[in-house]
Amino acid sequence: MFLSLRGVTRRFGSVLAVDHVDLDLSEGEFVCFLGPSGCGKTTLLRLVAGLEILDEGEILLEETDLSGLPARKRNFGVVFQSYSLFPNLTVARNIAYGLECRKWAKAKIEARVGEMLDLVHLGQHAEKHPHELSGGMQQRVALARALAPEPSVLLLDEPLSALDAKVRESLRGEISELQRRLGITTIMVTHDQDEAMEMADRIVAMNRGRIEQVGSAEELYWEPATRFVGEFIGRINVLSASELRAGFDGPPGETALAIRPEHVVLSEDGAHSGTVRKVAFLGNTMRLGVEAGGQEIEIEVHGRRRRMNVGDTVTFDLPADRVRRLAVSSR
Ligand code: ATP
Repeated sequence: MFLSLRGVTRRFGSVLAVDHVDLDLSEGEFVCFLGPSGCGKTTLLRLVAGLEILDEGEILLEETDLSGLPARKRNFGVVFQSYSLFPNLTVARNIAYGLECRKWAKAKIEARVGEMLDLVHLGQHAEKHPHELSGGMQQRVALARALAPEPSVLLLDEPLSALDAKVRESLRGEISELQRRLGITTIMVTHDQDEAMEMADRIVAMNRGRIEQVGSAEELYWEPATRFVGEFIGRINVLSASELRAGFDGPPGETALAIRPEHVVLSEDGAHSGTVRKVAFLGNTMRLGVEAGGQEIEIEVHGRRRRMNVGDTVTFDLPADRVRRLAVSSR
């Protein structure tokens, strides 16, 4: 295994920020740590980077234990949400900085900086200072600076969250493309499920310091292992009303029965009936909130032209092969 985390644990006082995390990464993989605020994803990334100290466990790079190695000796490239560029240095000098620290020869630094500027399409801006650039451009400089010393792993801590939606969108594609081209093993922290689904080879879904599930976007979407994953990735109805649960057995408490809104089937003679409480027309999709058996259930309908109105009565089915049993986290 290229990078291995074994029983990685970090406490802050009584807070167990990262709780015995095990994870293996293959070389060249793009992995996202995904989860809500406070789940421990940033702390986990900082532990890998060497910016936090492990309380327990070990981190191995090609079988070598990194635990005692400070951040600057790990040769990992790190990009933060806030760019963290040196404001008084030009773009080129920002990129050169890490190479100078590593005592690269002058000619080699110059060549590498040129290469990096091309890579992030900033050749025209080499002599500018960070304040003369847009946020997206500054983040590309930060990326070039992180990649310049040929790191063995690239660590991205919410690199897109400070940018506006349009720039974020285009940088998503740019980072993915660059990562694939360089084949560099990458870990990105994000709380944005769309970002993780679009960019990652594998998503590590985290909750309360622990990993709930690791898998591709498709696996997490179609086969969520836990209620947390089902609710965090995409939308899902957890069936609480006994009328809706009827016919599906399973011990309540330990498992939740759940179905995605697009898997509920509206039909003329469906087994369940309810009243439309909300209608959202989203173009190709119409999202209904339907009150049935004392619960509101979300139903998504695609490509339907006939308008539905609040107050309409509808009937629907919950196909058995679409209803999932999700483990409920014990913590
Ligand atoms: P966010 O997206 O908000 O940064 P996160 O998922 O990255 O959240 P962490 O920042 O890793 O979560 O924090 C995990 C837990 O550890 C939280 O309860 C947080 O308050 C706590 N924590 C993190 N860093 C420290 C610190 N330096 N001192 C004390 N507590 C900390």
